[in-house]
Amino acid sequence: MDTKELLLATRNRNKKREFQEMFQDFGIKVINLDDIKGIPAIEEDGQSFAENAIKKALTTAKLSGFTCLADDSGLEVDILEGQPGIYSARFAGEDADDKKNNEKLLQMMEGIKQEHRTARFVCVIAVSDPDGNVETVAGTCEGSIAFSPVGQGGFGYDPLFIPTGYKQSFAELSAEEKNSISHRGKALSKIKPIIKKVLAL
Ligand code: IMP
Repeated sequence: MDTKELLLATRNRNKKREFQEMFQDFGIKVINLDDIKGIPAIEEDGQSFAENAIKKALTTAKLSGFTCLADDSGLEVDILEGQPGIYSARFAGEDADDKKNNEKLLQMMEGIKQEHRTARFVCVIAVSDPDGNVETVAGTCEGSIAFSPVGQGGFGYDPLFIPTGYKQSFAELSAEEKNSISHRGKALSKIKPIIKKVLAL
């Protein structure tokens, strides 16, 4: 029997590796946009994580003919009315990097007391078949924003995010510990049965 394939609508190698690990017991081949030709960059112009994830999964599935998985994620800070939200990756501008984004967030949080520093990471995953049938799941992880960056691991806002019930930031946790409580880990465990159904595994 042919190995079934799942196309990730991303060029991000870290995400590809993370998803490959999550699906390694499925006996499927997980590929990404670097493995196939002709899929243009898809603009993330939705008003929510779900809109962006659905648009990426649906468009890529239709253009490629593969079952496709896309995710969109970010950080919502309560006192900032949900910012940076869907703009998390480019919070400090189009040429932003993690360091600049973290600096901007800390600046905006200056003088805000501990009890008002609550925040959450959100991840929405969408799966679409080539006919355009889409399903979505979401995962969240509650926590608070630290007063300065701590830890060397992870990426993005990890050094500033202290998950509820922990003293360490996401950047101080091992990848395994982070995955077991993170927004992405939770969304992934919900999407697994859906992938099984869609690919008829
Ligand atoms: P995207 O889902 O690739 O669009 O990522 C959105 C942005 O949200 C990333 O560039 C990070 O800034 C932030 N982000 C999403 N998930 C995480 C996480 O697990 N840790 C830290 N930052 C994250």
